[in-house]
Amino acid sequence: MEVELKEMLDELETLKRSLPDPSHYTTIDKLRLHVEHLTNLAKSAPVRRSKVKDMSAEVVDSNPYSRLMALQRMGIVENYERIREFSVAIVGIGGVGSVAAEMLTRCGIGRLLLYDYDKVELANMNRLFFRPEQVGMTKTDAAVQTLSEINPDVVLESYTLNITTVQGFETFMKSLTNKSFCPSKEGSGVDLVLSCVDNYEARMVVNQACNELNQTWMESGVSEDAVSGHIQLLIPGETACFACAPPLVVASGVDERTLKREGVCAASLPTTMGVVAGLLVQNTLKFLLKFGYVSPYLGYNSLKDFFPTMEMKPNPQCSNVACLERQKEYILAKPARDAAAKAKMEADASSTTECPLHDDNEWNISVVDDSVPDRKDARSSDALPEGLIHELPSADEFQKLPASEASATATDDLEDLRRQLEALNG
Ligand SMILES: [Zn+2]
Repeated sequence: MEVELKEMLDELETLKRSLPDPSHYTTIDKLRLHVEHLTNLAKSAPVRRSKVKDMSAEVVDSNPYSRLMALQRMGIVENYERIREFSVAIVGIGGVGSVAAEMLTRCGIGRLLLYDYDKVELANMNRLFFRPEQVGMTKTDAAVQTLSEINPDVVLESYTLNITTVQGFETFMKSLTNKSFCPSKEGSGVDLVLSCVDNYEARMVVNQACNELNQTWMESGVSEDAVSGHIQLLIPGETACFACAPPLVVASGVDERTLKREGVCAASLPTTMGVVAGLLVQNTLKFLLKFGYVSPYLGYNSLKDFFPTMEMKPNPQCSNVACLERQKEYILAKPARDAAAKAKMEADASSTTECPLHDDNEWNISVVDDSVPDRKDARSSDALPEGLIHELPSADEFQKLPASEASATATDDLEDLRRQLEALNG
């Protein structure tokens, strides 16, 4: 910016000299003063941090990655720095997508591809991420502006387009297959696609693209009444695709832009959207860095603070042709998968010798073992002194629900899921 302003000053000077009539000098001098003022403002703008070549685990205040690299020291992640090799595409930079993008940027993801056709509006300010001064900018450009300031190490690509148009879909597919960031990568050019869109049609388009490319993706959604949401992992051929469950999902064919014009407006809360974005990125980190359990489906009902989970197998009668092809491939690859799983199990069994995480434990830090304890042991460690009782049931108590009650909960969940999916369709 400073360079451009300097050029402008030079051009004004040249213009002044070329004018035969001195009566215009005052106007030019006024313009020069304005540009000089802008130059001073630009100089006082906050300094951006420089790029970091290698992620370091060094514990100093100036290291932007020390807290993330500590995940390795704590034994949660084997190799955190691998995050720099990954590309994640986020479709829909709204209340969920923008927050997910910020989280991944702060985590030091290698590359982010951002897709949205919309502009930032004042009506978006009840959510996180965008700021009032960004009103009028495209959501993708505004996101790139903020994210590049937060972490200049992340490679950001902004796609201001509508993936549901023919041309938009073509560009979308082309960008997903571009391998220039990591040429050695197998499959498509990205490691994961996150769908953070707010309508059925766009979800079906992401589903189509990912089925065609055999691309693993995660879907997310927040209900129109703003109080529940979900995330879902979709692996073509292995799990249900978005078109696999027609009874629950019915195309409404309603364009959300017409809805907006008529003044019908879905509710939204920064809390629910923040929770869903958090669940989505948590699942993304676990999937990419291979730690913990990657949820196939996780719902969130904020009114009951209830988190339903489930798994969905692909539908052999799915209407999506690419889904059926992926299903066939998945079945054909079963023997190879079984052999690999067996080999891994044998390798794990042979390397049973465990050694302490740190030989020198200067601060005497110990990590709580969170493996499932033996039921009997858990009881004895939970024992309270005489006269005291637990106010809340322990997590184990939920396992002991009577059968009838448990099945009632399951029906409830299904009803809830049906309502959520219906809400998605507007
Ligand atoms: Zn399907």
